[in-house]
Amino acid sequence: MPTLPADPAALHAALQRWFRDHRRDMPWVDAPTPYAIWIAVVMLQQTQLVTVAPYFQRWMQRFPHVEALAEAALDDVLKQWQGLGYYARARNIHRAARQLVAEHGGALPREAEALMTLPGIGRYSAGAIASIAFGKRAAALDGNLKRIFARLTLLERSINSSAGDRELWQIAEALLPTAAQAGDWNEALMDLGALVCTSRNPHCGACPFQPHCLAFAHGLQDELPRRKASKARPHYIVTAGVIWDAAGDQLLVAQRPTEGMLGGLWEFPGGKQETGETLQAALRRELREEMAIEVAVGDELVVIDHAYTHFSITLHAFHCTHIGGEPQRLGVADFRWLHPDELAQLAWPSTDQRILEALLSEKRNGNAERVTQSQEN
Ligand code: SF4
Repeated sequence: MPTLPADPAALHAALQRWFRDHRRDMPWVDAPTPYAIWIAVVMLQQTQLVTVAPYFQRWMQRFPHVEALAEAALDDVLKQWQGLGYYARARNIHRAARQLVAEHGGALPREAEALMTLPGIGRYSAGAIASIAFGKRAAALDGNLKRIFARLTLLERSINSSAGDRELWQIAEALLPTAAQAGDWNEALMDLGALVCTSRNPHCGACPFQPHCLAFAHGLQDELPRRKASKARPHYIVTAGVIWDAAGDQLLVAQRPTEGMLGGLWEFPGGKQETGETLQAALRRELREEMAIEVAVGDELVVIDHAYTHFSITLHAFHCTHIGGEPQRLGVADFRWLHPDELAQLAWPSTDQRILEALLSEKRNGNAERVTQSQEN
């Protein structure tokens, strides 16, 4: 393990003072119930506080307690999550709520280890919930805290290696204050990582850890933390069909299989282009394979560039007309024929929301368009 600060108590005291003056309003500030803390902790994974705040408000109005969430349909849960990305979080929260009601009388377990038996609650979330909601002495190591600890202790290992991760958990546990202080300590570190010890250009001059920080002492705060180079992100060409019925009144939309990426969300069906295929041939083949239907492919409606965490796509959406075959659930969880005005009620990934917007835009000005989006989902 790298060198730990010699005086953890001084570190605790310095952060506590800073936290008193700089604490951000976390989503649970008005009603810090274990349920609210759980939902907010999961929403805040990979997502900034400013983005989470309105989602959290709407969520608590729609599902004010765990029983309301457990009773809700998955479609409803996904609709509330629409736009937050990483949809497995929403599906897991829903499954966990049902498990809590069925097995725990609707109450969250108080210990980190027991929390980790629930779907979607890993070591970080369990530590955050146990310490903040239940005053347990549990570490909660997210990306922000990894960065702070790597700098504080001059960790030379990559923080995205398993050895680096192991050492960081050891550091996090070694530096934990008492159970009574652990929740504030974890929350204060989250705030420090967001406001002061930022990924780029850390504000060391305003940092309560500066007298203890080895990276600062060696002038290495901009070099740390180290990261293993990640693999190049592959790029795929993908097609989607805006499939009209023969009368041109209704559109055929499909629900993605529940498990897997964007599971349970609705989309304009289609799929990846294979080598040597035209876009139109790829779309016809995908629709045959996924739904057993034949379509006539018409004009291109919109082209969308989108980056996910592990790959990126260029999505070509075409107007199509259904010309044969009763739709079947071969590679989709469900399908519906809907009037365009009814589409907004479903939960869509952001790419398909852009297709919907392009449909509206086309109504207005008749032009196809290209949209570039960054990140998410
Ligand atoms: S002194 Fe700088 S590098 Fe060290 S913890 Fe504070 S902000 Fe981060």
